[in-house]
Amino acid sequence: MTDKFDVAVVGGGLTGVASAQLLAKRGLKVAHFAPQFAKDYRTSALMMPTVEFMQKEQLIDDPRELGTALSNIRIIDATKRLLRSPETLFKSSELNLDAFGYNFANSDLLARFSKYGQSFSQFDTAISNVEKSDDGFTLTAAGGEAYSATMIFAADGKKSFIRDSLGMHSSIRPHPQSALVADLEFEHPEQHTSVEFHYENGPFTLVPAGGNKINLVWLDEHQKLIEVSKLGAKAFQKRVEEKSHRLFGAAKPLTKAFVFPLMNMTVPSAGKDGVVLVGEAAHAFPPIGAQGLNLGLRDVEDALDAITSLRTGFSYEEAVLASEKYADMRKSDLSRTNSFVDGLYRSLVSDLLPAQALRHGGLWAMKTVPPLRKFAMQFGLGK
Ligand SMILES: Cc1cc2nc3c(=O)[nH]c(=O)nc-3n(C[C@H](O)[C@H](O)[C@H](O)COP(=O)(O)OP(=O)(O)OC[C@H]3O[C@@H](n4cnc5c(N)ncnc54)[C@H](O)[C@@H]3O)c2cc1C
Repeated sequence: MTDKFDVAVVGGGLTGVASAQLLAKRGLKVAHFAPQFAKDYRTSALMMPTVEFMQKEQLIDDPRELGTALSNIRIIDATKRLLRSPETLFKSSELNLDAFGYNFANSDLLARFSKYGQSFSQFDTAISNVEKSDDGFTLTAAGGEAYSATMIFAADGKKSFIRDSLGMHSSIRPHPQSALVADLEFEHPEQHTSVEFHYENGPFTLVPAGGNKINLVWLDEHQKLIEVSKLGAKAFQKRVEEKSHRLFGAAKPLTKAFVFPLMNMTVPSAGKDGVVLVGEAAHAFPPIGAQGLNLGLRDVEDALDAITSLRTGFSYEEAVLASEKYADMRKSDLSRTNSFVDGLYRSLVSDLLPAQALRHGGLWAMKTVPPLRKFAMQFGLGK
């Protein structure tokens, strides 16, 4: 067994890499377990508070070098429902901001985070066993090597092996909808405006990605999206042009379409016994209102605050206290963000008239009552 680490970070997604780099920057002895995985074709709209956090920590420099500014959000009701909502445009200028945030390719962000340059032990392997010891944890890698650490940052995604192996509770509710993502080149897209067409089975969102490039995020029934993902390029292009009402002209596919099944996953507590859950190990929900990674990076920010007084060689008792502090710090943000996304999701896909009326009324109110618009926009920013 190698020397003991202060923190084992498990997971090589964006929250895992950010955690490993920033813990090492704080002088802690870090082991990062990050098995290779296929390229992440998702993109993430990250709101200004998240962008400012990444800049403050120097994870990124100028966001314009890496992403595309999102200054407006346009919502179009494309349903055939009895109650249809008015078209609504939210402008960041109403909040005196140049942009609500930036749209980044996850793979570009990951490459940037990985180049951050802190020194720590990196293991290109999954963890296949984890056990509690008297003064921390023993983690066993897929190849059989054992490692010990005083604290664990579990950033191993929504099916978190660490969370489940250590008996931390979670509740999962799978959704009938999935999300299809693809990159497209439109003939004349709206620049800096994210356009959401709301359909009966979920939104069809076009997010600007610089120039004429658009990232499509299409929520619909799982089976239907699987069929769409198998279409040839020409047939896929036709479907996209129909769904976007040809408002932005021809839509040439630039990548294959990828389908992500959706679920709601919540935890009663995001930290205890020296383990903190960050990113999708602590929460998962449909990509509506662009909240997932924003929330995940807020987890990382709070986890760093929770361990701020710890110095290398800290004790297991200190790790337990830090994990409990983290759980307290995250409680209200996790619960209100989950309720916000869940409420939005239900109102979008529900066939029930009361839910439709609520959404219709809500959009009317937001269109016409400026303080409510401001409140909604600030909430979306995570404030
Ligand atoms: C279609 C779609 C669009 C989205 N759009 C947005 C958006 O616009 N804005 C936004 O904020 N969020 C968005 N999200 C959410 C965002 O993509 C996720 O929240 C984020 O990528 C999750 O990062 P993570 O690091 O928490 O988890 P993951 O990226 O899932 O990383 C987990 C890592 O853990 C590793 N792992 C798993 N098991 C083990 C193990 N036993 N040992 C070691 N490693 C392990 C995996 O290999 C993986 O690399 C979107 C999601 C989807 C599906």
